[in-house]
Amino acid sequence: MNLMAEKITMSASGVLNVPTNPIIPFIEGDGTGVDIWPAAKLVLDTAAKKHGHTIEWKEVLAGEKAFNETGNWLPDETISVFREYLIGIKGPLTTPIGGGFRSLNVALRQILDLYVCLRPVRWFQGVPSPVKRPELVDMVIFRENTEDVYAGLELEAGTPEVEKLRSFLKDSYGWDIREMSSIGIKPISKMASERLIRAAVQYAVDHKRESITLVHKGNIQKFTEGYFMKWGYELIRNEFSDVAVGWDDCGGKPGSKILVKDVIADIALQQVLTRPAEMDVIATTNLNGDYMSDALAAQVGGIGIAPGANINYVTGHGIFEATHGTAPKYAGKDVVNPGSVLLSGVLMFEHLGWTEAADDIIRALEATIAEKIVTYDFARQMEGATEVKCSEFGAAVADRL
Ligand code: NAP
Repeated sequence: MNLMAEKITMSASGVLNVPTNPIIPFIEGDGTGVDIWPAAKLVLDTAAKKHGHTIEWKEVLAGEKAFNETGNWLPDETISVFREYLIGIKGPLTTPIGGGFRSLNVALRQILDLYVCLRPVRWFQGVPSPVKRPELVDMVIFRENTEDVYAGLELEAGTPEVEKLRSFLKDSYGWDIREMSSIGIKPISKMASERLIRAAVQYAVDHKRESITLVHKGNIQKFTEGYFMKWGYELIRNEFSDVAVGWDDCGGKPGSKILVKDVIADIALQQVLTRPAEMDVIATTNLNGDYMSDALAAQVGGIGIAPGANINYVTGHGIFEATHGTAPKYAGKDVVNPGSVLLSGVLMFEHLGWTEAADDIIRALEATIAEKIVTYDFARQMEGATEVKCSEFGAAVADRL
């Protein structure tokens, strides 16, 4: 057996080469990162070992820990390690105030061009939920991660810069924007829309999903949100006509192909609640995706258990991450739910092709919750629960593997 730890690499044909014992960089995370990471790591290591793998975890710094040790919130070393080792995982990071970044998470996504924010949303047996039929929720959101109003193109009201733009818009287009307005720019490009939707279709093909819903606000924002949808349907016709078909091209009857449809964002937020079984893979723009991810997570247990990943399928880079923040009031108290970073690890295992280990963790997690062994956030919603610490929850899941 090869015990040497090796790098994950990407072949020229775009396939990840995953060695038996890979080296995987991790950022522990600020705040509750000290609690959730060790709990999740125990489960990931136990499951990996059961299937003949040993992960060599390589710690890299970001956030407060990085600032305290290096004076830099996001050291270059961290970026170069993620670049070199391709796949990594991270806990939550404090957003530095006056630290030169809008958010460390956004910075990581932009620097590595991680253009897909992947958020699977499904219910795990026994998890308390505010809806009647949480078992019908099984959706995978592909949120565009690099543009839209998140591109950071904003000018502040009252500044000479915004006044210059206001005058230009008035002179060139006759657009009358009120005095003392801040102005933000919402770029939506063909390239970014296509690569996001391409990734969603490929995922639907690989995971045998039935439909893809393009969620947009194109009824109002015709050339940004509307074109996201238009470019999406064109992409299906041009690149995926053998496996997928748009609603209008098949009258809603796709045969054995994946059905691609579209829904306006506000209606989509209603439909995911009232008709969850009709939503499968969702591809959407950045801001819509942000709202949808957390709204959907709430249906199946909240952000304490929602996994996420930021991926560039072309370069092979991917950072899997807890989707909640640092929850500073609970930091170091060993009480929070490690489910989000743990399930992000499960998502990472699936991405690496370690599906049996991933499935084992899900079974063990469900068995633990079925026995009502849960952290405070679930315990307060469950009758007769045994409330355990974060570390005890991790140990309980590992014991059931
Ligand atoms: P937050 O840290 O996500 O916490 C908000 C609430 O969510 C908590 O008070 C707690 O609710 C619940 N929660 C969070 N993590 C949980 C867990 N593991 N288990 C159970 N419940 C959990 O949001 P925030 O207080 O707005 O943000 C704090 C810091 O985190 C900020 O610096 C923010 O910028 C940063 N942040 C980072 C990320 C990231 O790194 N991806 C994401 C969001 C925010 P209850 O009190 O009701 O139990």
